[in-house]
Amino acid sequence: MSLKNISILGSTGSIGVSTLDIVARHPDRFKVCALAAGSNIELLARQIRIFSPEIVSVKSDEEALKLKKILGSFKVEIVHGIEGASLVATHNRVDIVVSAIVGAAGLIPTLAAIQKGIPIALANKESMVIAGELLRKEANRAGSIIIPVDSEHSALFQCLHGNRREDLKSLILTASGGPFLNKPVDEFKEITVADALKHPNWSMGDKITIDSATMMNKGLEVMEARWLFDVPLDIIRICVHPESIIHSMVEYVDGSVMAQMGVPDMKIPIAYALTYPERIETGARLLDLFEINHLRFLKPDFEKFKSLKLAYDVAHKGQTYPAVLNAANEISVWAFLKKKINFQEIFSVNDDTVNAHKPFPLMNLDDILQADGWAREYASKLIKALLK
Ligand code: NAD
Ligand code: MG
Repeated sequence: MSLKNISILGSTGSIGVSTLDIVARHPDRFKVCALAAGSNIELLARQIRIFSPEIVSVKSDEEALKLKKILGSFKVEIVHGIEGASLVATHNRVDIVVSAIVGAAGLIPTLAAIQKGIPIALANKESMVIAGELLRKEANRAGSIIIPVDSEHSALFQCLHGNRREDLKSLILTASGGPFLNKPVDEFKEITVADALKHPNWSMGDKITIDSATMMNKGLEVMEARWLFDVPLDIIRICVHPESIIHSMVEYVDGSVMAQMGVPDMKIPIAYALTYPERIETGARLLDLFEINHLRFLKPDFEKFKSLKLAYDVAHKGQTYPAVLNAANEISVWAFLKKKINFQEIFSVNDDTVNAHKPFPLMNLDDILQADGWAREYASKLIKALLK
């Protein structure tokens, strides 16, 4: 067994920290060669002292200076910005990149690694949503494999393994339904940030936790699955499964349905992406079926969770629409987290931005960035108007 050199984009986040936990459990298997993070410099400095990467990147030069000060004479190359994160992603010793920056900010470094043919453990779903076709094309060209970390997609990846594509009938993405599954829609306006951050089953970063509460997360995951597995949209279905024990399922033409199960702990799909096709011990609890006792399956409510409908619409329209929805959603979710808009207004800002968009075909990265930039500006204007 040879030592795998790992580069982690987003090392101070929920996925990044869980990845380092796996690395620490298996020092004979993994070595951290590069880390990138945003502005949580104290935690990053601790990670650097423990894991001794050769290069680290932070969001801006201010943060780079702060990090240098904290680290003193500790030897590590410090870079910053998108270019810095791209250097981390393409470090010459890296065997696999864990792509776990949140939002569209993860796209350029992830693309840089893919273009060098480096295997990717992909958590950053937003990059697949906005640039799926480009990432697929570049991965095929450069011979890079993209292994999903998102629990549903890891489940699908595992259930597809060893089966023939021609025999595939549908992909069934499970969804917990989030904290407001049973809340009447007329009470959505009163939902506080604290309410929305209480996910029933998963502990995650703030942005994805809010996306789970609006169910936009599932909409994004439909688009992620479409490109990750290169399947038509109309074979991707959603099933609400409040226990989050079945992480997703694949249905085959003979009527067989394969499901992947386990406790809801991201260390399981992270470790699988790092060691695929092998499996290692993760520290996650083992599944106790008798403790769980029963599993439920419900139809998603497209009327109540308008994000789901909007995401499917946008996915069908294609072109620049997915990038626009994703960007509007990033802006509206951060505005909600900063208490500038209420929960319901996340849906209206997203909807209004998508409706105002004049689409154009996506030919390259610049087109994606242009649509993303337009939507951020438009959504920010809508939020300003709501504040008046
Ligand atoms: P998080 O907010 O906890 O962490 C985000 C990380 O990205 C942090 O390290 C932050 O410093 C870094 N970052 C943010 N902006 C940056 C920038 N401009 N440059 C460099 N670094 C930057 O988020 P998370 O929950 O770990 O999620 C990360 C990604 O993984 C998201 O795309 C999310 O949808 C996906 N994902 C997360 C989970 C989960 O359980 N947390 C599950 C499935 C998928
Ligand atoms: Mg998921």
